[in-house]
Amino acid sequence: MNFIKTFLKLLFDPEAKVDLFKVSPRLYAIFKHQRLHAAWCGMLTVLLLFIILAGLYGPQDPTRNSILYLCWGLWWPSVILSLFLVGRMWCGVCPFPVAGNFLQSLNLSFNQKVPRLLQRKSTEIAVIFFMLIIWIEESTGMKQNPAATAYLLLAIFGGAFFCSVLFAKQAWCTYFCPLGKVMGIGASIAWLEFRPDHSKCKQCTTFACKRGTEQLPGCPIDLGAFKVTNNLECHLCGYCLQLCPHDSPQLNLRHPLYEIIIRKGKFISCTLLVPFLIGSQLARLLDQNIYDLMGLIERECSYEWLCQMGLYVIPLSIGFLLADAIINYSNFIFGVYDDGIMGRFSPMVPVFLPLAFAGELVSRLNYTVRNFAEFPATVGRQFGWQFLEQLTFTIPEWVYPVYGISILFLSELAGLYVLRIFVTKDFEGMISTWRYRFLQMSFFSLFAVYIYLISMGWHIPYLNVLFFFQ
Ligand code: SF4
Ligand code: SF4
Ligand code: SF4
Repeated sequence: MNFIKTFLKLLFDPEAKVDLFKVSPRLYAIFKHQRLHAAWCGMLTVLLLFIILAGLYGPQDPTRNSILYLCWGLWWPSVILSLFLVGRMWCGVCPFPVAGNFLQSLNLSFNQKVPRLLQRKSTEIAVIFFMLIIWIEESTGMKQNPAATAYLLLAIFGGAFFCSVLFAKQAWCTYFCPLGKVMGIGASIAWLEFRPDHSKCKQCTTFACKRGTEQLPGCPIDLGAFKVTNNLECHLCGYCLQLCPHDSPQLNLRHPLYEIIIRKGKFISCTLLVPFLIGSQLARLLDQNIYDLMGLIERECSYEWLCQMGLYVIPLSIGFLLADAIINYSNFIFGVYDDGIMGRFSPMVPVFLPLAFAGELVSRLNYTVRNFAEFPATVGRQFGWQFLEQLTFTIPEWVYPVYGISILFLSELAGLYVLRIFVTKDFEGMISTWRYRFLQMSFFSLFAVYIYLISMGWHIPYLNVLFFFQ
């Protein structure tokens, strides 16, 4: 009963928070002692090594190599799903920085500071890396190619390792990791946040959460709990709990839209990434569910990957430009995108952000669900376990609309809620009714485009949107 009351309070009061460390001292102890983190991290490191080795040296036939499903069907969709619930907590157990951390613990690092120019441009660099990954992934059929998948993971692992050799702490994670930047933006709509109790930090003289103590180094990403003001950077690893002498850090359950309402799309990573994510999903759905664009491109290019990448730029750019135009035109209609205190911001980015991540989740889950039945048989073929090969079942088609419509509908509600708060509270009296209605309509039309494109892949004729026009 108490739980329901708390949940409702959080849902209806964007400023309400519940400190889970206070509610559950056991949870506090788990984070403080870090043993569970170490166990997870160890397990995931072994899994990562397996995926890389099996990708490089295992069978290249996609029906005989389970790493494709492990990577694209389980790992990436789980990470995206976890963003909505626990923010960047994946980063707290991520195996990519493990080798670099080990090297640094042996003092085998140049421990340099990242040059200022790179620090300033790091968001753009990470976003470009991410766009490159999506572009290569979609245009070269990476999800069907174990070696290419392993090379991608090796590239991220290599980036983290190289940065650890050159720079102090996990500089890759702080500045360049494309996955980290995307997760930071997605984590803005998480139910959880890690924050300090500023009243305690004000009296602090050691700042041990950042600087460390004689026995322990400070925050692995050189942030420190006292500097955490949003979900963009903190890994929610809880490592600083053992460093803080005043028990300042808190793990809060909160309203998931609170942060984007406050920030109003003020960071360039959001303004670039949200339209890119939406655009890449439109291109992907158009390809998978209607035109078989990739099939056309592959035949046109005689399966030459460089040519495929070149041609795939066209649907990707069309998708990006369309999403960017919708967001910018909506900003223009909104009419307020600059003020003396915040500077320039993009009010429609937070409105579209939940849809962008919900679309990403749904399109990734489609791969997960579509290939789930084949996974045991693939493992069986890979390791010669015949009993798994004989395990056959089918996923009923109704599953796709159930999660697809639910997730997209929730994101639609979230976007409309943010828009309503902007119009009725934050910018009260500044946006006329016709502008408000227009924005609702433009938001709804993009949602309708999603539903249309997704419904074309459901193979359930009476749920296909075109059915209504027949
Ligand atoms: S930022 Fe990237 S490399 Fe670092 S922990 Fe997160 S996902 Fe792993
Ligand atoms: S979190 Fe703890 S160690 Fe860090 S500044 Fe606040 S009180 Fe000091
Ligand atoms: S501030 Fe604390 S919880 Fe956040 S990344 Fe640093 S050590 Fe981990």
